[in-house]
Amino acid sequence: MVLAQLGGSISRALQQMSNATIIDEKVLSECLNEISRALLQADVQFKMVRDMQSNIKRIVNLDDLAAGHNKRRIIQQAIFNELCKMLDPGKPSFTPKKGKTSVIMFVGLQGSGKTTTCTKYAYYHQKKGWKPALVCADTFRAGAFDQLKQNATKAKIPFYGSYTESDPVKIAVEGVDRFKQENCDLIIVDTSGRHKQEAALFEEMRQVSEATKPDLVIFVMDSSIGQAAFDQAQAFKQSVAVGAVIVTKMDGHAKGGGALSAVAATKSPVIFIGTGEHMDEFEVFDVKPFVSRLLGMGDWSGFMDKIHEVVPTDQQPELLQKLSEGSFTLRLMYEQFQNILKMGPIGQVFSMLPGFSAELMPKGHEKESQAKIKRYIHMMDSMTNAELDSTNPKLMNESRIMRIARGSGRPVRDVMDMFEEYKRLAKIWSKMKGLKIPKKGEMSALSRNMNA
Ligand code: GDP
Repeated sequence: MVLAQLGGSISRALQQMSNATIIDEKVLSECLNEISRALLQADVQFKMVRDMQSNIKRIVNLDDLAAGHNKRRIIQQAIFNELCKMLDPGKPSFTPKKGKTSVIMFVGLQGSGKTTTCTKYAYYHQKKGWKPALVCADTFRAGAFDQLKQNATKAKIPFYGSYTESDPVKIAVEGVDRFKQENCDLIIVDTSGRHKQEAALFEEMRQVSEATKPDLVIFVMDSSIGQAAFDQAQAFKQSVAVGAVIVTKMDGHAKGGGALSAVAATKSPVIFIGTGEHMDEFEVFDVKPFVSRLLGMGDWSGFMDKIHEVVPTDQQPELLQKLSEGSFTLRLMYEQFQNILKMGPIGQVFSMLPGFSAELMPKGHEKESQAKIKRYIHMMDSMTNAELDSTNPKLMNESRIMRIARGSGRPVRDVMDMFEEYKRLAKIWSKMKGLKIPKKGEMSALSRNMNA
C-alpha cells in the first residue's frame, strides 16, 4: 500500500535529521518540510498539515532544550502525538452492546465498498457471538439487494429487502422492526450510495435516518479517493449524524492519508479498515499502532521496549530470531498461548501485540478470552507434530480437520475458527520479518518498513 511509501518518507526525514551533528532550527524545518510534503502527497489535507507543522514547532522549542536532551526523540514523539491527534477526534464512537438492540446505518458513495463492509461488520460481530441482521435500503442501484442477499447468505446472516418496493424508508423501517422483534442485537441498514451533488439522494438518506433512528451512522470511505476525502466526508456529515468511519481498500494502492481527512471532516474516529474483498479481511483500527507504522517505528514501538523490559536476557535472542524469521507455525501459536495463560514474561509481551490484544483478548472479556485460548490449546493437543510445525495452511484439509474435531471432542466449526485465528496471527507475525530490534530505549531503527 502507498502508506508504506509515506511511512518510508517520514522515517527517512527523521533519519536525515538524526544524521545531522547539531539539530538546529534549520535542520528541524527541513525535516518538517519533508514530512509535510510526504503527508500532502499521501492526500492529507493541506490545512491539517500546516497546523501540524506549526504545532510541532511550538512544542519543540529547541532553545529551551538543554544539552543532553535527545532532541531527535523529542521531535519524533511530537510528530507521533500530532499525527495521533489528527486521527483521534477526542471522543469515542457509540459502541453497541451485545444482547442489546442497536441500529447501525451505513452511508457512503456508491462503489466505496459499503455493502461489502456491512457484511464484514456483521460477520465480525457474529463470530463474537452477536446476533446481527442486514437490511438493504438501497433501492437506487439495481442489483444492490441481490448483492447483499448473496453476501448475507454466505455468512449465514439474516437479511431483509425487496425487489419490488421502491421506497427505501419503508423497507428500512420494516426491516428494522422485524429484526427488533427477532431480538437481533445488531441491525445493520445498508443505504444507497450517492454522489455528494445529488441532493435528492441525500434527502433520502436523511429520511431513512429519521425513520430508523440509528444508534450509530458509519461513513464508509474508499481509501483511494485522495484529496476529495475531506469534502466528501463533510458532505455526508452535514446530512446525517456520522459517528464513525470505516476506510476500505487499504490493501490496494491507496494513499491512506484520506483517512486522516475523513476523521477531521466528520470529527469521528476510524473504527475499522477493510483490507481485501473477503469477508474476514477487516481489522479493528487502532490509532497508535497505525501512526507508529507511518513513522517507521513498527506497529510495536512499546512492544520492543517491553521485550527488553520483561523477557529474561537469555530468552531474548530466541524470541527475536523467531520474530525476524516471520514464519508462524501452529506450534509457535501453541507455545505463545500457553505463555499468555501463565502470563509469564513472554505472555505479557504477546498480549501487547495489537492483533493479540484487540481481537483475541478484548478488554472486559478476559474470562471468555482465556476459555477460548484453552479451547485452542486443547484442539492443538490433537494435532500431529507435522501439523504443528507446518507453515503451509493447505496441509489442513478436511480429513485432518475432522480428525482434530473428533480427537478433541469439539465441533468442526471450532477447529475452523482456530485455523482462522492462526491465519490472522500468522499475517500479523509475517510483518515482523526482517525486523532489526532496537537497543533498549531506542525509538526507531526498525530496518525495514513493517507496513509494506
Ligand atoms: P458499494 O457500492 O459501496 O456498496 O460497494 P461494494 O460493496 O459493492 O464494493 C465495491 C467493490 O469494492 C467490490 O468489488 C468489492 O469487492 C470491493 N471492496 C470492498 N471493500 C474492499 C476492500 O477492503 N479491499 C478491496 N480490495 N476491495 C474491496
